Formats: sequence, C-alpha cells, structure tokens
Amino acid sequence: MAIREDLLTQPLNDLRQISLVGSTCSKCGETFLGRALVCANCGTAEPKPRALSKRGILWTYTVVRHKPPGDYKGPDPFIPFGLGLVEVPEGLRVLAPIVCDQSELRIGMPLEFRAFVRPGSHSPEVVSFEFVPAK
Ligand SMILES: [Zn+2]
Repeated sequence: MAIREDLLTQPLNDLRQISLVGSTCSKCGETFLGRALVCANCGTAEPKPRALSKRGILWTYTVVRHKPPGDYKGPDPFIPFGLGLVEVPEGLRVLAPIVCDQSELRIGMPLEFRAFVRPGSHSPEVVSFEFVPAK
C-alpha cells in the first residue's frame, strides 16, 4: 500500500515504475499533489490525475537532527536526515527526505524520485518515497 492514498501511481509491485500522482485543473492549469476533487485555485471540479515528473530541483532544505515526535517510523536509534522541498517541472513543491551525504545538499541541485518499501513494514508493505541526487 502507498504511504498515503492516491499519492503514488499504481501498480506498486515494480518500484522503478512508480511516480507521484498530481492533479491538473482543466480550466486554470494549476497542478496539485495527489488526487483532488476540486481545484483549490478556481473551484473547477475533478482536476485530472496525472503522473508527475520523477526529476526535480532542490528548492530548499533542512537537516532534521532530532527524532520527530509521535509515531516516527525511521531508524532506531535516530539518524539525522535531509528534508527538502523539491520543485518538479509541473510547478509544485513536494516535501520529502533527501537521501545523500548532508554535506552535499545544495539549493538547486537536480534530484530524482525513488520509491521504496519502508523497512520494517509488514503485510501489506508500505511503499514510501524519497529523492536522491540525479545521476
Ligand atoms: Zn483551476
């Protein structure tokens, strides 16, 4: 199962084929992350779902150095990680972990989407996503 409903393209069995889902409004052209029932920009019903580009640019980032509160599912003991806003060509920014050496993080660096099965998840396995430096 996807980490959030309607966020990833189906099927989920080939991780390399997965990308993020967006919705583009037929009237104003605005694109949103995930499936939307109504365009938040102009109110038009049923923006059209589409697969988003798997390439993006790091718009900004931070390094998370403390274990997030609540039901954190990452490694234990906690390992600091990069968290960025990735701008995709469709014009929206996606919050995601950025997996690389933290000293390599740079605003504007090209990134690519990567889907993965969340470690420790059981049946059904949870498919999540992150971005890595583009090759
Ligand atoms: Zn619209």
